[in-house]
Amino acid sequence: MQVTGWSVGWLHCWITIIMNRCEVCGNDYDKNLEIIVNGISHYFDCFECAIHALAPDCDHCGCKIIGHGVEAGGTFFCCAHCASEKGVVGAHDRV
Ligand SMILES: [Zn+2]
Ligand SMILES: [Zn+2]
Repeated sequence: MQVTGWSVGWLHCWITIIMNRCEVCGNDYDKNLEIIVNGISHYFDCFECAIHALAPDCDHCGCKIIGHGVEAGGTFFCCAHCASEKGVVGAHDRV
């Protein structure tokens, strides 16, 4: 069954190519990052793309939260100032 062997080999190759491709920009990079979120693997070629895909947005200013951030009632803020601007009382920067 040469045909079967060939198709299995092709399938393996195809999966490898997909795994090495950045989810955000599609860059095919052999030293990519694997980041596991809730048990699901994500692949990126750089931290910038990983942040773009995974980091939550600040609910007030809209910037990407790449530090500790502030979480209040299921909403994320980049800092205590943004949280207080949205009416969150008693927010503190978690450091
Ligand atoms: Zn990328
Ligand atoms: Zn903010």
